[in-house]
Amino acid sequence: MNFQSMPKTELERLYAELLERYRRFRDLKLNLNMARGKPGSNQLELSVQMLDLVNSSAEMVSETGEDCRNYGGPLGLPEMRRLMAAMMEVPEGNVIIGGNSSLNMMFDTVACGMTHGFSGCAPWGGQKHLKFLCPSPGYDRHFAVTEYFGFELVAVPMTPEGPDMDVVEELVQDSTVKGIWCVPKYQNPTGITFSDEVVRRFAGLKPAAKDFRIFWDNAYCVHDLTEEPDCLLSLWKECEHKGNRNLAFFFASTSKITFPGAGIAAMAAGDDDFKVLKNRYSFQTIGPDKLNQLRHVRFLKNLDGVRAHMARHRALLVPKFETVLNKLNEELSGEGIASWTKPNGGYFISVDVMNGCAKRVVELCGQAGVKLTGAGATYPYGKDPNDCNIRVAPTYPPVQELRQAVDLFCLCVRLAAAEKLLNP
Ligand code: PMP
Repeated sequence: MNFQSMPKTELERLYAELLERYRRFRDLKLNLNMARGKPGSNQLELSVQMLDLVNSSAEMVSETGEDCRNYGGPLGLPEMRRLMAAMMEVPEGNVIIGGNSSLNMMFDTVACGMTHGFSGCAPWGGQKHLKFLCPSPGYDRHFAVTEYFGFELVAVPMTPEGPDMDVVEELVQDSTVKGIWCVPKYQNPTGITFSDEVVRRFAGLKPAAKDFRIFWDNAYCVHDLTEEPDCLLSLWKECEHKGNRNLAFFFASTSKITFPGAGIAAMAAGDDDFKVLKNRYSFQTIGPDKLNQLRHVRFLKNLDGVRAHMARHRALLVPKFETVLNKLNEELSGEGIASWTKPNGGYFISVDVMNGCAKRVVELCGQAGVKLTGAGATYPYGKDPNDCNIRVAPTYPPVQELRQAVDLFCLCVRLAAAEKLLNP
């Protein structure tokens, strides 16, 4: 039954019924969380044996004979660089292994641009009116990094194929635009993977600023949810074909493969940028945590090992995504008040509710004990122009709790829509 075409008396009756159901939910005093993309504790269990692989009785020497207990190896163990290079589809010689967080490496890379600059240009910090492109909806923490450094955040619409490249190509004609955030595979929050054409257009960009960079955050590169995963064209190779070798920085981590906060982060850059970053790291640290790297390569071994491990994650995640998608389908399809993505991987489902209702839905859910990502968080400055997008993160709660949380969510989407239509 479509809400928009419903006679007013019927809508009033429905509203009263929904409100009654909502009150009953509130009395349950739930305390559930679908706010952040954290693995569930059963997923974390999958990696605990890794901790036994580097203990007091283990050999702690790398394949090149390096004692991993000591300082050294600023770029990371060769075997770890090889593994991350395979995951990221970049040459291992261009990979730097960092600490426990790729977001940290992104922050540091922006900081490097601010203080030292890229392509021999003046540091960003000394230039005026810096802008950064933010495909939206997108990842709030990306936007926050460039906001922190004083960039003006410019929203770029997302299409089902990736960022709207007509808009990107036009905006990069402005030399104050210094970069763009991208999550090319199973994007946070839409779950879409950039099409071949979008990747090729990225590789062929001709920005006015020589120091413009694509921040290619492949956080979900092996996080498939189906037997037929999405395929992402290699931006590295496309950039090489086009002779645009220093156009992008590449990031990934094992946060959602092993342990968030205790995983391994990596980045890669074209030869010139790699030199700049390598030099910077030589001042920043005497070396990363090689014991954790050793533990990771012993556990995951190679790309096949990573894929086998991710299949175990998938088995735990699929029922959660199905719970949410089935419920959304049962409760909200055909009502004209919501649409949502059906991702083949990643950590999120992106729901667009009726314009002007997202904040209210999050508020109603919160008051009844279900925490969601703040409405607007997926847009620069936390401002969703249509107040319609909500990021749903189904991975953390156990299926039983998730069912209750999504029940409430669907009820709140309907309640907020009825409320809005009755009080336009
Ligand atoms: N990038 C994206 C797109 C993410 O969704 C996340 C985690 N939510 C991160 C980076 C954070 O990664 P890390 O733990 O490696 O800092």
